[in-house]
Amino acid sequence: MIKRRDSLKVFIGKLAIGGGLPVAIQSMTNTDTADVSATVLQVKQLADAGAELVRITVNNEAAADAVAQIKAKLVEAGYDVPLIGDFHYNGHLLLTKFPKCAQALDKYRINPGNIGSGALREENFKKIIECALKYDKPIRIGVNWGSLGEIGDSSVKSLVKVALESAKMAEKFGMASNKIVLSVKTSDVQETISAYRLLAKSCKYALHLGFTEAGSGMKGIIGSTAALAILLQEGIGDTIRVSLTPSDKNGRTEEVKVAQTLLQVMGLRSFRPMVTSCPGCGRTSNDRFQKLAQELDKYVDKMLLVWRKKYAEIENLKLAVMGCAVNGPGEAKHANIALCFPGKSEESVAAVFVDGKPLKTLRGGSVKKDFFEIIERYLAKKL
Ligand code: SF4
Repeated sequence: MIKRRDSLKVFIGKLAIGGGLPVAIQSMTNTDTADVSATVLQVKQLADAGAELVRITVNNEAAADAVAQIKAKLVEAGYDVPLIGDFHYNGHLLLTKFPKCAQALDKYRINPGNIGSGALREENFKKIIECALKYDKPIRIGVNWGSLGEIGDSSVKSLVKVALESAKMAEKFGMASNKIVLSVKTSDVQETISAYRLLAKSCKYALHLGFTEAGSGMKGIIGSTAALAILLQEGIGDTIRVSLTPSDKNGRTEEVKVAQTLLQVMGLRSFRPMVTSCPGCGRTSNDRFQKLAQELDKYVDKMLLVWRKKYAEIENLKLAVMGCAVNGPGEAKHANIALCFPGKSEESVAAVFVDGKPLKTLRGGSVKKDFFEIIERYLAKKL
C-alpha cells in the first residue's frame, strides 16, 4: 500500500484533488482554442478517454473569446470536465478583458517565467491572482525548466525556489493555500524526480505531476513512466499529465490511456479489466496464445462500455492468457479467469481456470469463442 503525501485538497470545478484523493488524470488539447467546434470535440474525446481535467491554450483574444462558448457547448452536451486555461505572457490582459473567459474556466495555469520581467512580473502576477479571487478559481503555478528566463537557472533548486516563492506571492495577494497547485517540470527523468522530491518535502500544496516534452512513442511513454512511477510510488502527486507528442495512429488520447495504465499497473486506480499474458519462449511451438492475448485485449476494449453499465467494479476483473503450464496455473491463481495453453501441442487445446481452480479444457477451433463465453458467463454469475 502506497502512503500518499499529505497534501492540501483543492477543488477544481466539481473535482477535488489532493488530500489523499485518488490521483486525477489530466490532459491538454492541441486545437486552436479559437476554433470552438474543434476544441469542444477534442475535449470530449479526451474526457471520453478518461481525462478528468482538460487544459486549453488561452493565448490570444480570439481564444479568450471562445472559452465561454466552449464551456457552454460542453455543458450542453453533458460534459462537466473541469477546463483549465493555460496562460503565458498575456494572461493578466486576457483574464481582465474577457470576464466570461475568467468565469468559465475552472482553474488558471500561470507560468512564473512567462508573465513579464522586472517590476511588471509581480504586477502582472497580481492581476491574475485578483481575477482568480474575483471569480473564486484555483491556480496552478507551473514552473518549467525551459522558461525560467531571468527568474532562475534550470537547476532543481531554482525550479523549486521559483515555485515556492510564486506560491507565497499568490498568498500575499490573498490566495488561499488550498487554491494553489504547483508543478516543476523538466524533460530529464532524474531532474524531474529530484525537483518533485524537493518540492514535496518543502510544502503541503497539491502537486501536478508531469514530465514535460516527453517525446513520442516508446521514448515518450517510457520516459514519462520512469519519472512519474518513482514519484507516485513515494506518494507524491495529486494529478498527473503525460505529455506525449501525439502520433498519427494513436492521436491525442494516447496520453490519457498511458496515464490510466500507469496508475492501474501500480495499483493506484482501476479503469479497465487487466489482461496478463506471458511473453512466450522456446516452450511454445505456435503463436496461439499470443493471438488470443491480443484478441482478448481488443474484446475488453469493445465490451467495456457495455460491461460498465451491467457490472459493478468491472475494472477490477483480472484475465490472463499463458503460453504453457510452467507459469500458467500459478498465474491463474492471481486472475479471475485464466487460459493456459500447453506449450508445444499441435492440437488447439487450452485449460481454463476460474478464481484459481481448473474449470475445463477447451479444444478445437472454437477456443477463443468458448473462452469469451466463459468470461461473459462468469460476469453474469452463470458459471
Ligand atoms: S508461461 Fe510458458 S510459454 Fe510463457 S514465457 Fe513462461 S515458460 Fe514460456
